[in-house]
Amino acid sequence: MDISVIIPCYNEKENIHLIFDRLSSVMNQMKVQFELIFINDGSKDNTIDLIKALATQHSEVKYIDFSRNFGHQIAVSAGIDMANGSSVVIIDADLQDPPELIEDMHNKMKEGFEVVYAKRKTRKGESWFKLATAKMFYRILAKITDISIPVDTGDFRIMDRKVVDVLKDMPEKHKYLRGQISWIGFRQTYVEYDRSERNAGETGYPLSKMMKFALDGITAFSDLPLKLVTYFGFIVSFFAFIVMIYALYSRFILRVYEPGWTSLILSILFIGGIQMIAIGIIGEYLSRMNSNIRDRPLYIVKDTNL
Ligand code: UDP
Ligand code: MG
Repeated sequence: MDISVIIPCYNEKENIHLIFDRLSSVMNQMKVQFELIFINDGSKDNTIDLIKALATQHSEVKYIDFSRNFGHQIAVSAGIDMANGSSVVIIDADLQDPPELIEDMHNKMKEGFEVVYAKRKTRKGESWFKLATAKMFYRILAKITDISIPVDTGDFRIMDRKVVDVLKDMPEKHKYLRGQISWIGFRQTYVEYDRSERNAGETGYPLSKMMKFALDGITAFSDLPLKLVTYFGFIVSFFAFIVMIYALYSRFILRVYEPGWTSLILSILFIGGIQMIAIGIIGEYLSRMNSNIRDRPLYIVKDTNL
């Protein structure tokens, strides 16, 4: 098996046939042995029936049907666990990632790279809000981590078996695959492309999921938020100390001590706010540690032909 293609699918009934056609023709043109692994991530429509129908006609079509929706990163992880190819491609089902680019990525790989990722030159059909927040997020993350996670890059990429095998052995539950792959190292490069809009259907990544994903990326690859809490603590303590000196001075030396309700309430609110944020940040890390300790399976497979 030369190439395994991993396609996570959540409510993609309009796109299954098109992505299958385009992937098959690219793969046939490249003259490689391939398998197409469709992961049905608890779709509410008939996505899985379409995939199974394809699988009966084409032996290269494999499917993994989850017991419920586990999320995009976990769907991709399941594909990685089961892939047999000596290279593995991750691609979205909605045709935002052009399958034709795989040939370029594969050729680039032959120049001696273990990972070739696709970098978005432009991005169509996305709200300005998503564009702006994504752009900001990737740059902040790049600043606060020690490893270099490429900016403006999704999971669309091709990886060598060596990288895939390391990835399979990384047990963390809150996946941020593009970060993990950067962390693994080897020789990595990119090809640029223009990202088109979704062919049909709706995004499976509403704001709430995007925020969770962003937090997973940050907590998995940076301790800066925790350190910031400490810095804030020092700064606030420093000011509190000055105010304490002043309070004592005015009480015992100047002997002016108006009941200072305003300053009192302000400082209580301020310190209270800082403390809440600090506890919240610690909680985010703690909850991730907790779910790693619980060590539940990452996903549950209802049915598969792999
Ligand atoms: N997806 C998934 N599980 C989810 C959400 C999305 O497997 O819970 C799949 C989806 O079918 C698509 C890919 O992940 O193939 C990217 O999702 P989507 O296109 O909805 O995200 P966007 O491109 O809008 O960020
Ligand atoms: Mg999409």
